[in-house]
Amino acid sequence: MRAFKTESKKLLDLMINSIYTNKEIFLRELISNASDAVDKLNFKSLSDASMELADGDLAIRISVDEGVRTLTVSDNGIGMNADELERNLGTIAHSGSEEFKSENAESQGSEVDIIGQFGVGFYSAFMVAKHVRVVSRAFGSEEANAWDSDGLEGYTIEPAERAGHGTDVILTLRDDESAESGEAGEDYGRYLTEWTIKDLVRRYSNYVRYPIQMMVTKSRQKPKPEDAGDDYTPEWEDYKELETLNSMTPIWKKRAADVSQEDYDEFYKSSFHDFEAPLRTASFHAEGALEYDALLFIPGRAPFDLYSKDYEKGLALYSSNVLIMEKCADLLPDYYNFVRGVVDSQDVSLNISRETLQQNRQLRAIARRVEKKVTSELEDMRDNDREAYETFFDNFGRGLKYGIYSSYGMKADELADLLLFWSAREQKMVTLAEYAAAMPEGQQAIYYAAGDSRERLAKMPVVTGALSRGYDVLLLTADVDEFTFQAMREYVARDMPKVYEDDAARAAAEQAVADGAEPELEDRRIEFKNVAAGDVDLATDEEKEDAQRATKDNEALCDAMCASLDGKVEKVAVSARLTDAPACITTEGPLSLEMEKVLARGPEAASDDLPKSRRVLELNAKHPVFEKLVAAQEAGDTDKIGLYAGLLYDQALLVEGMLPEDPVAFAARVCELM
Ligand code: ADP
Ligand code: MG
Repeated sequence: MRAFKTESKKLLDLMINSIYTNKEIFLRELISNASDAVDKLNFKSLSDASMELADGDLAIRISVDEGVRTLTVSDNGIGMNADELERNLGTIAHSGSEEFKSENAESQGSEVDIIGQFGVGFYSAFMVAKHVRVVSRAFGSEEANAWDSDGLEGYTIEPAERAGHGTDVILTLRDDESAESGEAGEDYGRYLTEWTIKDLVRRYSNYVRYPIQMMVTKSRQKPKPEDAGDDYTPEWEDYKELETLNSMTPIWKKRAADVSQEDYDEFYKSSFHDFEAPLRTASFHAEGALEYDALLFIPGRAPFDLYSKDYEKGLALYSSNVLIMEKCADLLPDYYNFVRGVVDSQDVSLNISRETLQQNRQLRAIARRVEKKVTSELEDMRDNDREAYETFFDNFGRGLKYGIYSSYGMKADELADLLLFWSAREQKMVTLAEYAAAMPEGQQAIYYAAGDSRERLAKMPVVTGALSRGYDVLLLTADVDEFTFQAMREYVARDMPKVYEDDAARAAAEQAVADGAEPELEDRRIEFKNVAAGDVDLATDEEKEDAQRATKDNEALCDAMCASLDGKVEKVAVSARLTDAPACITTEGPLSLEMEKVLARGPEAASDDLPKSRRVLELNAKHPVFEKLVAAQEAGDTDKIGLYAGLLYDQALLVEGMLPEDPVAFAARVCELM
């Protein structure tokens, strides 16, 4: 017996027990080797005209013998002579395939797409086998040889018989382990079942370029006998048929023009377990220093677990048509976690188990391109198929907003123009660019109101007030919305009509346009403002002056009301923005009432120092209620002022969608009034 070269015993042990996380990949490795062997022969025949190779004969066969627990992977590829068996299988980490690749580097075109590179994949067979026998006959040779090993001490090589060129790798599977104290025992016998083999081939080797065949059991109806009576019940029989298990052509390698949308849809549905067709399909192919093919899908609906922490993002990563990773997370940013698809590259460096990526430079380059592609697909959908885009946004918009929020606004450049919000004036979803373009001259900010119902927001006094002044208001109903705006702070609106500081410049520009020049455009930074914020500037100068004067004139009343509200509000003032409602609550500082509500629902809810908004009770001086207040103040009726202040405050809260802090007291005040 010959011993393995190098510190083989240790190495082999390491291999079998530590490199791979997953025993089942052994089949992928053996099939990859068979595919390489077939590829090499194919390549030789292409470069050697004297070789006659019947096209279509090249194949990989899998067979099992349950009686003796063997699983065999056969190929009719290039085969190995005794020397090669010794060199390739007797030396761990020696890759004959890698050698073949470099030897043929110059002459090789796109025909050779060899998978092997590390010289260890073969030994993964020992993860499931107690004995491995390799019978091989090199192409053009009359002799065959067998390599045998138990994977422990070493191996033997001796002459053997084989009908034609190629290789059989025969695994005698390990004995099944019985379940021990809580741990499930390994069931190696499952690798003898048709179901498991089919499943593994489809999962890992579906796109290997040569047919992977197996005799499978099928069932058919027996022909009806001549003499069968009327009460004949059909009989069934099992029969065996050679079936090709893999689909071979990787759809992502084809150009989009050569694939029908139905085929893409079919591929998407079967690969990603969705019963709906994708909203959007995009494929691209990179050539040059880093070559890869990518096929991306934007699903039509969110999977039920998208927003749960169990959801795993990622694209399937293939290298030379062999699955490396089902979900490679590094290929997608979190905010595009809904994208499904495939990236296939021969050029990504894999570590020897293929399951982890050795270095991420190439992967990062691919990820950047994937991200750009998704963005441009979404932009295209937004501009050319708004209905589909709204469906998309309904499903996945929250992730985009969260992407801006969680990056502290750094991703705003990429994502802001993909957002949609409900416009109170247009009564539909609009982009920020559309909102900005429709702003009347002089509007300084993007106004919004936040709450949980669109209907209620639309009726809020601060919203109707802004609308009646000609300003549109975005109605935000998702938790993350207002936080997103705060993270962005401002929106950069492109190509807005230029604003001229002084009249002379404006007149000159108007004249230029009249003379046929293009109007001047500029990018404008526009702040976001909650219409319920204290410093929001909707009123005219005159209205503001009136309000200030009224507040001053009624200072005693405002102070008395503020005192009776006992710390619930920062101050009471006469409003410059109210039109119909008697009062409203606004806030000073960055925290709005809605954000306060969101935080109160969050994980910190129980903590004592949860930030509170600084509330202001604003009064409408034009409302009849105001006269009553003034009258009460003049009469020195402090009880009445307290009663009215409490009522106005509570009902303003109700309008905001919040409960009065003390509902019993609120009810009592209403009764008292009656
Ligand atoms: P790798 O595939 O990364 O080169 P393996 O350990 O899987 O490493 O295989 C080692 C070498 O054994 C291969 O490079 C190849 O030269 C040879 N080999 C393995 N299986 C076959 C086969 N079915 N036919 C021909 N050669 C094979
Ligand atoms: Mg290999």
